[in-house]
Amino acid sequence: NSAAKAPPTPSPLRFSKFFQSNMRILITGGAGFIGSHLVDRLMENEKNEVIVADNYFTGSKDNLKKWIGHPRFELIRHDVTEPLLVEVDQIYHLACPASPIFYKYNPVKTIKTNVIGTLNMLGLAKRVGARILLTSTSEVYGDPLIHPQNESYWGNVNPIGVRSCYDEGKRVAETLMFDYHRQHGIEIRIARIFNTYGPRMNIDDGRVVSNFIAQAIRNEPLTVQAPGTQTRSFCYVSDMVDGLIRLMEGENTGPINIGNPGEFTMIELAENVKELINPEVKIISVENTPDDPRQRKPDITKAKELLGWEPKIKLRDGLPLMEEDFRQRLGVPRKN
Ligand code: UDP
Repeated sequence: NSAAKAPPTPSPLRFSKFFQSNMRILITGGAGFIGSHLVDRLMENEKNEVIVADNYFTGSKDNLKKWIGHPRFELIRHDVTEPLLVEVDQIYHLACPASPIFYKYNPVKTIKTNVIGTLNMLGLAKRVGARILLTSTSEVYGDPLIHPQNESYWGNVNPIGVRSCYDEGKRVAETLMFDYHRQHGIEIRIARIFNTYGPRMNIDDGRVVSNFIAQAIRNEPLTVQAPGTQTRSFCYVSDMVDGLIRLMEGENTGPINIGNPGEFTMIELAENVKELINPEVKIISVENTPDDPRQRKPDITKAKELLGWEPKIKLRDGLPLMEEDFRQRLGVPRKN
């Protein structure tokens, strides 16, 4: 019949997109710690419209309060394990609890978030032709047998451990990204994020920097989990956000490590926090959790060469910036 032969009508959404010069950007997990700093940076550009989707499991509206009501900003309560349809040009897919205590709290939900959540966001990217960036993790290297870790290392991960919902979840998420890229031509970017710290971390996040700073401010002992010689490398959040945007805007799929190569043992971190924040505080040793990686330090050669990126803020400069924010939220002003 004649109706079947009628030419397809262009979708009004696609049509309007053709004329608009604004970049519409979706950030999943945009109410979280890194996500909300990313929102701040992207909103500085007047050509960007930012849509945040967050289920507020670990994120908070408070982190975005200065943008609520802004004409270029939208906030949606949404869980990425459900499909989402929005017309966007770029997707920063950050949504997933990232602190061990939170991602282990409901491990089945964590793996669903990583697998089904990433599938849903890739489906969206495919449907609307958006470029998608996944924030993967240094945890894909597991308890690494090479040091520092570069992107070609395949990792040493326990597939059935208590951390697997997160690290294996992110590994599957990376696989999905590359399969959509190869099979459907989706433009993908993968960042492997190393430990990140800064203002707006949840005070009860449970991770080491936020724990030590809150403990030092409250004059409670700093809890170094045994043996204390395990290492991590800590990146200040503004450096992290800068790296993510460069990766999104650049021409490389990644995976690319984004992190600060300055490596510290947990005992050294505790000593730095003690010296900078509260010289009176005690440092104690407490029991560790299973499968804790013994060492972690990013090789950032690729980020330097391909993105022209390297972190600028040293740990000893970043800790006081975070202390300031924690003091305000805890209501404990500095003594002198
Ligand atoms: N850690 C610690 N004290 C704390 C919390 C964590 O010594 O109060 C140690 C933990 O054993 C690990 C490191 O700090 O070796 C980093 O842990 P975190 O949970 O911050 O992040 P992860 O890198 O393990 O995801």
